[in-house]
Amino acid sequence: MIKKILTKNIRVRFAPSPTGPLHIGGARTALFNYLFANQNNGSFILRIEDTDTQRSELKWVQEIIEELNWLGIEWNEGPDIDGKFGPYKQSQRIDIYKKYLKKLFLENKAYYCFCLPEELEAKRQEQMARGVAPKYDGKCNNISKEIIEKNLAEGKNSVIRFKVVSKKVKFKDLVRDSVEFDTSLLGDIVIAKNMNTPLFHFAVVVDDYLMKISHVIRGEEHLSNTPRQILLQEALGFYHPIYAHIPLFLNSDKSKMSKRQGDVALSDYHKQGYLPEALINFMVLLGWNPGTEKEIFSLSQLVKEFSIEKVQRSGAVFNMQRLDFINNHYIKEKPISALTKLCLPYLKDFDTTGFSKKELEKIIELHKPRMKKISDIFLLCDYFFIDNLTYNKEMLRWQKMGDNDVKEALEAVEKALLKKWPVRITSSAHNASRSDAGWNKENLEKVLMQEAELFNLKKNYPLKNRGFMLWPLRVALSGKQSSAGPFEIAEILGKEETLQRIQDAIGMLS
Ligand code: GLU
Repeated sequence: MIKKILTKNIRVRFAPSPTGPLHIGGARTALFNYLFANQNNGSFILRIEDTDTQRSELKWVQEIIEELNWLGIEWNEGPDIDGKFGPYKQSQRIDIYKKYLKKLFLENKAYYCFCLPEELEAKRQEQMARGVAPKYDGKCNNISKEIIEKNLAEGKNSVIRFKVVSKKVKFKDLVRDSVEFDTSLLGDIVIAKNMNTPLFHFAVVVDDYLMKISHVIRGEEHLSNTPRQILLQEALGFYHPIYAHIPLFLNSDKSKMSKRQGDVALSDYHKQGYLPEALINFMVLLGWNPGTEKEIFSLSQLVKEFSIEKVQRSGAVFNMQRLDFINNHYIKEKPISALTKLCLPYLKDFDTTGFSKKELEKIIELHKPRMKKISDIFLLCDYFFIDNLTYNKEMLRWQKMGDNDVKEALEAVEKALLKKWPVRITSSAHNASRSDAGWNKENLEKVLMQEAELFNLKKNYPLKNRGFMLWPLRVALSGKQSSAGPFEIAEILGKEETLQRIQDAIGMLS
C-alpha cells in the first residue's frame, strides 16, 4: 500500500548535478523551491547529485554554493549545513543506496543485465525499422542465478535493471494538473551500473524518501522521468511526493530555446554586472505570472506573493530586454557609494587616482540611468579617464555647421570660460584649477547658456537652439556621440582639462 505524503511539513530540495556551472535555469529552480519552502514555513534542502563521478567536480559544487549565496538563496540543510537527513552529497550515500538495491533484488524487482551496448543498439535499430518505439526487450530478466553469479565472477560488463510494471501512471502536478503516462512504453530501465554506482532515478527516489521531501519542484525536462520514479517509489514502498514541473525557456519569438542559449551560466551574468536582486526578480517572472502589471519584486516580497499554482504550463519567454530593464531599475535604486564600489572593478584599466571618491561618485551618478549592467560603465564613462580623446571631427558638427562655425563656437566657449575663470599661475596647475572657485555645473550653465544665445544671435541661428554651441562643446569634452551633459562633464574634469579638450578640438578644425 502506498503511503500518502504528510504535507504539513513542507520539505523541498534543489538537486543539482555538479557537472558544470550553475545555469540560470537551475538557479530559477532553486529560487522556486526556496520561495515555496519559505512561504510555507518549510525547509529547503540543497542536495548535490554527484553519483556520476566521471563528470562531477568539486569546483562546480563550490560554484553552485557561491552563486546561490550571492543570489541570497539560503538553504536549511545541505552539504555545508548539517541536518538530520544528511549526508547531502549523493557520493557519500552509496551504502544507503546499496541497501535499497538489495531490497529490490530480494523482492525480485531488479535484475542484472549483461547485454552489450552493440547488441542493444542493433535491437534498437531493428525495432525502429519495424516502426515500433524502441525499448529493452527484457532478455536478461530470466537468467538463472548460476549464470548471473558466473558472469559477475568473470567480471562481465553489467548493469542493474528495474522491472518496470506496465500500467498507466497518473499523477497530479501543481503546474500541469493531471499527467498520465503509459509505462508499457518504457521497458526495464537501468537504475545502477553496479551495487556501488546507482544512477540518477534510483538515487533521487531513495533520497527524496529518506530526506522526507514533500514536494519535488523541478524543470519540465524531468517530466518524463517522473513516471519512472513513481514506479520505483511504488516498488520500494515509499510515499509519492507532490510534483511541480516548471516550464522550459523560450526565445523572444516563442521558438524553443536551444540548449546553448538556455544554458547560460549564472556566473556569466554575475561577471557582466547583473545584480542579484535583478536576477531574482527576472528569474521569478520566467514562468510565474503575478496576475497584475507589477513587475518589480524583492526576494522578501516574493516569499509573500509567489504562488506555485500560478506558475504557467507554457514555455517561459526569456527576454533579455526585460532583464536589462529590471537590472537598470535596481542599478538606479542603489545608493551611489555602493554602486560606485561595484563599478570600480570594471574601471580598473583606467587610472582613476586623479579623481576623489566624490568625483568618482559624480561620474557614476551621471551614467547610472544608462547602465543596463554594471560592466556598461566602462564604455559609458571612459572619456573621463582618457588623456587624448580620439574621435572624428565630423562629430563636432551640429546640424549643418561648417568647420569654421564649430571652431568659432568653441573659441567663444573658451573665451567665456577664461573671462569668468581667468588663468592663475600656481605650482600645481591641475589641482589648483580643479578647485577653481565657483567652477561647478550651475555656474558653467549660467555662463554658457548666455554665451550660446549670444552666439546664435551673432550667427543668425534660431535663438533657442543651444545645440550650436553646446553640442560641439559636449563632443569636445567626451569624444562621443552621446554622453553626459557638457556642464556636468566640465565640472568633474575641472577647468584645466576642460580647456585642454576644447583646444584639442579647435586644433582638429584648424
Ligand atoms: N540532478 C538533476 C539535475 O541536475 C535534478 C534531479 C531532480 O531535480 O530530480 O538535472
